[in-house]
Amino acid sequence: MASIGFIGLGNMGGPMAANLVKAGHQVQAFDLSADALSIAEQAGCQVTRSAQDAVTDAAIVITMLPAGKHVKHLLIESEQALFDALSPGALVIDCSTIDAQTAREIAAVAQQRQIDFVDAPVSGGVGGAQAGTLTFIVGGSQAQYATALPILQGMGKNIFHAGDHGAGQVAKACNNMMLAILMAGTCEALSMGIKNGLDPAVLSEIMKQSSGNNWALQVYNPVPGVMENVPASRDYQGGFQVDLMFKDLGLAMDLSQQSAAATPMGSAARALFNLHKSQGNGGLDFSSLIRLYQ
Ligand code: NAD
Repeated sequence: MASIGFIGLGNMGGPMAANLVKAGHQVQAFDLSADALSIAEQAGCQVTRSAQDAVTDAAIVITMLPAGKHVKHLLIESEQALFDALSPGALVIDCSTIDAQTAREIAAVAQQRQIDFVDAPVSGGVGGAQAGTLTFIVGGSQAQYATALPILQGMGKNIFHAGDHGAGQVAKACNNMMLAILMAGTCEALSMGIKNGLDPAVLSEIMKQSSGNNWALQVYNPVPGVMENVPASRDYQGGFQVDLMFKDLGLAMDLSQQSAAATPMGSAARALFNLHKSQGNGGLDFSSLIRLYQ
């Protein structure tokens, strides 16, 4: 059992912290949202009045925040930077999806302070966070990975060591670029079928058993009513926001530019999500992209 400080209790962080409590850890949790704190308290977390309070005496700190600027500010830039409150030897696991460069910069500052830091972005969505079946993609040293592993096993099923600091974020950007392309393609194909008189449930089943099968069809169908317990069937609330997918596609485009990797499909997917976002849909789940085709 570890003493864990958990910052960021949103759609993902809330259920992740709850699973750490179920795994027997002592979790001190903080979020800026009072609603998120109340849900975490009901799940057995000890909620605190500040992020610094949450990490006091913690051997492990987990952050699950929107973007790189939030993580950097909280850990090293703020007047109450968490790195100032941590003891040497503490391990900070950042599970947010952020840019690899920021992850490397934070890791370098951590090393100067004798704090361990790993980037450990996740895949699997809110369903995976709730079920404790997330995939974690870790960037850091072998020793840091080994320390993080038993903690991550309380929240996930597949835990990969992608390489040194930043490697987790690079792998995550590749994955989410592919996810955006697959979701856009799935929305496009389903909309064409619907416009040609097909039942989307029947068409989904056909494609799932055929060569068009993919993750969106299997567990995240974008058409309302085809699948239960997915954002499409609750008016695209909860889940993974268009704003966050758009952010992730920006991270992928940055990587593509830095490495001169050609990403025309990723670029097209980004343009589609940008259009959808510009029509006021940033707060909806990303599978709502299908509305663009209707
Ligand atoms: P979210 O917006 O639901 O949650 C973020 C939480 O961080 C909010 O509750 C917010 O109040 C809190 N927060 C922001 N700044 C804070 C601060 N300084 N101190 C304390 N709390 C603060 O987002 P989410 O969907 O949980 O996503 C979190 C991260 O996980 C993002 O980087 C996202 O890209 C990534 N991610 C999300 C999903 C998904 O399906 N939602 C899947 C994989 C990865």
